[in-house]
Amino acid sequence: MSLHRLLIAAVIGPELARWKAAGHAPAFWWRDDDARRPTPALDRLLALSARFDASITVAAVPDGDIAALVKACRAAPEIELAIHGFRHENRAPPGRPSGEVNDLDRLADVMSDLGAAIEVFRRAGVTPRLFVPPWNNAHPTLKRALGLQGLDLSCYGEMRNGAEPGRLDAHLDVMRWKPQARFRGAVRFLLRARRLLAERRAKGAWDQPLGLLTHHLDHDEPAWRFLEAFLPVAKPVARARLDKPATGNPGHRGVLKAG
Ligand SMILES: [Zn+2]
Repeated sequence: MSLHRLLIAAVIGPELARWKAAGHAPAFWWRDDDARRPTPALDRLLALSARFDASITVAAVPDGDIAALVKACRAAPEIELAIHGFRHENRAPPGRPSGEVNDLDRLADVMSDLGAAIEVFRRAGVTPRLFVPPWNNAHPTLKRALGLQGLDLSCYGEMRNGAEPGRLDAHLDVMRWKPQARFRGAVRFLLRARRLLAERRAKGAWDQPLGLLTHHLDHDEPAWRFLEAFLPVAKPVARARLDKPATGNPGHRGVLKAG
């Protein structure tokens, strides 16, 4: 048994046993960010998805080769393609958190950028249903535009109080980012997972999904190896298959079927 497997069993095993005793299993889903085109790292990600029959929502930047990306993803079990920003460009004023949309942007301009992004995906044969803002920064103007286009929103964070229709976040980042990108560390990752699982159990929020977040282009070897141990435990399902998806859109045509 690998060290990662032992740590997973030791840190979240007892919590998972409490879920099981109550007749529940946590609903994991999996989001991966920053894809632009097929790369060896994307191949490795898709191979993991196939090996563990784990669905991924791949958040892709529209300025990439989306047609080639769609083609590569069709070979994997069940992949949803989401829109990851317009150009993944930080346009925040100095001193503000990074983000692509800011206070000076007019709704009409954001709608136009969003329409162009949707069109890129449509031309590649996919109707996107989910938008993942770069740096997880959901500016109110962006949220209005997403609502008008009927797109769901995914950011990163903690458990939210009160359902926000059409929103499904990621919660467990496999990476840490400062001073440079590297694996978060198994214990650090698992302690957060344990806390978020215990919070859901305490509130009886059994169906509230728990989102794994990865960035395939930034993974070091320890991050890949941890995923190999964690995916068979988490068994992430496609967003469209979550029991009670936090979404207003029943038709998830962004999901690609295998073959
Ligand atoms: Zn990103």
